[in-house]
Amino acid sequence: MELYNRPAHELQRLLQRKDISCRELTESVLRRADAVDSSVCAYLTRLNDQALEQADAIDERIAAGEAITPFMGIPLALKDNLCTDGIETTCASRILKGFRPPYDATVVHKLRKTNAIFVGKTNLDEFAMGSSTENSAFFPTRNPWNTSTVPGGSSGGSTAAVAAGAAIAALGSDTGGSIRQPASFCGVVGMKPTYGRVSRYGLIAFASSLDQIGPITHDVTDCAHLLNVISGHDPMDSTSIDQPVPDYGAFLIPEVKGLRVGVPREFFAQGVEPPVADAVWKAIRLLEEKGAVVEECSTPCAEYGLPVYYIIAPAEASSNLARYDGVQYGHRTAEDVDVVGLYQKTRKEGFGHEVKHRIMLGTYALSSGYYDAYYLKASRVRTLIKQDFERAFQKHDVLICPTCPTVAFTLGEKTGDPLQMKLSDVCTIPVNIAGLPGISLPCGFHEGLPIGLQIIGKPLDEGTIFRTAYAYEQATEWHSQRAPL
Ligand code: GLN
Repeated sequence: MELYNRPAHELQRLLQRKDISCRELTESVLRRADAVDSSVCAYLTRLNDQALEQADAIDERIAAGEAITPFMGIPLALKDNLCTDGIETTCASRILKGFRPPYDATVVHKLRKTNAIFVGKTNLDEFAMGSSTENSAFFPTRNPWNTSTVPGGSSGGSTAAVAAGAAIAALGSDTGGSIRQPASFCGVVGMKPTYGRVSRYGLIAFASSLDQIGPITHDVTDCAHLLNVISGHDPMDSTSIDQPVPDYGAFLIPEVKGLRVGVPREFFAQGVEPPVADAVWKAIRLLEEKGAVVEECSTPCAEYGLPVYYIIAPAEASSNLARYDGVQYGHRTAEDVDVVGLYQKTRKEGFGHEVKHRIMLGTYALSSGYYDAYYLKASRVRTLIKQDFERAFQKHDVLICPTCPTVAFTLGEKTGDPLQMKLSDVCTIPVNIAGLPGISLPCGFHEGLPIGLQIIGKPLDEGTIFRTAYAYEQATEWHSQRAPL
């Protein structure tokens, strides 16, 4: 297999043995990105020169005898809503075009410290609002498995980059499925960690009570190692959890005897296409053959996840996005207007349709007289959804269901039908609402497009998710398939 298509843990072995140099690896990925990105369109910004400089510096250190640490020398992609010091960070919005943050997000800082290499910043739905990456203000990204279909979203640039071999791994963010749904569509592994496991400092805020950063990789091993690199308490994020980070690598044992697997009925009801349900059930049966104890269960309130999300997320977004007024960041209208006019024109010119739509929805839901009817009610149902999961986790160690009801859809197919677009997230959103960790990994194909298996865990129990996912992965071949580009 070409270097650009291999998982990081394999490449690191080659680097350590000096079978390859970091420059060779980096050039392989950069050349691949050059070759495929005119059709995939995963990147908004490429960082070729920096990447090669970083690679040479790492080669010198390896030559001097330094031991390789996880993700040292590995070319990665970063979703363009993660702040990078001095490097343009747009959130795929015209309003942030040209914005160069004066600091690194905590996760970026951690990756720099571990000596990862940055290939570039990837495309997304504007401000991470969307499920197909078609809401980017610049251009849509395409799915490497079939470029007439979407990669999913909003982290579609990051998942497409990994699937196409244009990065070895990537970071994305997941507010309502934005890592797991595109991972499912692109046939890669993507995890949304427990809310608070990874610092959000420097992640441009969409809905702060839901946003989480997470890894996107070729396989479960890389996913566990990358989560280790980015996790941990951060005094710069008051919601980050102050608890030690386990060694996730220690959970990579293909052993599920006695593991209690719950299968939440409701997650198979909501428009899940038969080929998707079949592939997911096959995966569950495989784990059962390996000794897992499988039982159907119920999370009755999860079906309210979508309506609850579309009150809470826009409400938080309307508040978070109030800061883009043309004074401090990014775009400012060129028109000669008074201060109120400056705000109005700047925001009118700078935000795209979906973002404006969400700001209006959220402002309405929070306005006096409506707060109790919408935001308060949604917050209460949020508690009920959480309690459903708590009950399920009294009897089960993990819950398994589809990541998404369908495989990737055609570009343009759902842009005119916002409800259909949003239904793409029915299986992922309840997990954000409850703050739980969840992974998506490939479990089959339908009409040449990947299907995703979702494994949901207890708060801070990413380890058991990794163990389950690893056991499945070791027994199957899906993770070693690559897009035919
Ligand atoms: N697709 C969902 C939305 O449009 C979730 C996005 C996300 O997780 N960032 O809001």
